[in-house]
Amino acid sequence: WAKADGRNRWALFDPSRSEAEVARYAISAAMPGGLERGEFYLEYQPITGLADGTMHGLEALVRWRHPQLGPMRPDDFITIAEDTGLIVPLGRWVLEQACREAQSWAALTEHPPFISVNVAARQAADPALVDEVRAVLEQTGLPPERLQLELTESALMGPAPIETLHALAELGCRIAIDDFGTGYSNLAYLRSLPVQSLKLASLFVAGLQPLPGLEPDTDVDAQIVATLVSLARTLRLTVTAEGIETGTQVERLREIGCHLGQGWLFGIPMPADEVRKLLD
Ligand code: C2E
Ligand code: MG
Ligand code: MG
Ligand code: MG
Repeated sequence: WAKADGRNRWALFDPSRSEAEVARYAISAAMPGGLERGEFYLEYQPITGLADGTMHGLEALVRWRHPQLGPMRPDDFITIAEDTGLIVPLGRWVLEQACREAQSWAALTEHPPFISVNVAARQAADPALVDEVRAVLEQTGLPPERLQLELTESALMGPAPIETLHALAELGCRIAIDDFGTGYSNLAYLRSLPVQSLKLASLFVAGLQPLPGLEPDTDVDAQIVATLVSLARTLRLTVTAEGIETGTQVERLREIGCHLGQGWLFGIPMPADEVRKLLD
């Protein structure tokens, strides 16, 4: 923080600074207080089995109810939180909140869904993460197999130490590769990681439409998805397709053999009380 403050202290008065930089500074300065005052909250988006149409899990997605700017999406503040380091306490809060909420679902249904929590590269680089996860599981009583941690390819390829990944897997939680296909994975390395599932980036799912004049077998996106799903099956990974918005996409993903799906078609991210109503 000292460094960020030192670098940005006179940002507001420097005419050469762009408006975007000023906004960035305002956001980064408001975040610690926002965390203390409880301005952050979680929404949960269903992850659905494509074969049976039932909800298998939910992904926790953080939001910020900013007192002046109103509700903010993570794309507007997560990168800033990564740069300032606030992602570490924020991520810890997200993990604890999500696990506590997920544990409360066990009272509502016989087969409570799993919870999937995003872990930023900077959190994964912090060796304290393993102890935090262990402590949160103990405190909330959530069985480890109901916790999935989502890390991006770039976090897995660099910042996340292999020892951390193995320690997390040993705790019994699952590790998923988020936004798979958008980074530059080293497949040889990926193969050696203790990862159980793969989330296919919405980019590929978006291309799964009947294209006028294109036979399915000349449809590049469908072929990429089929190839990635088959690769995942070879590596014994569960595949979740992200960003499913249409019935056509579901049909094609089913044909391809994708296991799980997430997207507006199955449900938009919703507040905790709606999840409870849904499960009840
Ligand atoms: P992500 O982890 O890949 O999450 C999926 C994003 O896709 C979410 O955006 C979700 O609302 C959006 N989405 C879901 N279904 C659809 C759909 O059918 N169509 C479209 N167009 N979008 C859909 P959201 O909530 O804005 O989050 C954006 C990103 O912010 C997340 O991408 C994740 O990388 C990051 N993020 C969110 N919560 C956290 C968190 O607690 N910690 C960290 N480190 N990152 C987070
Ligand atoms: Mg995610
Ligand atoms: Mg994703
Ligand atoms: Mg994303």
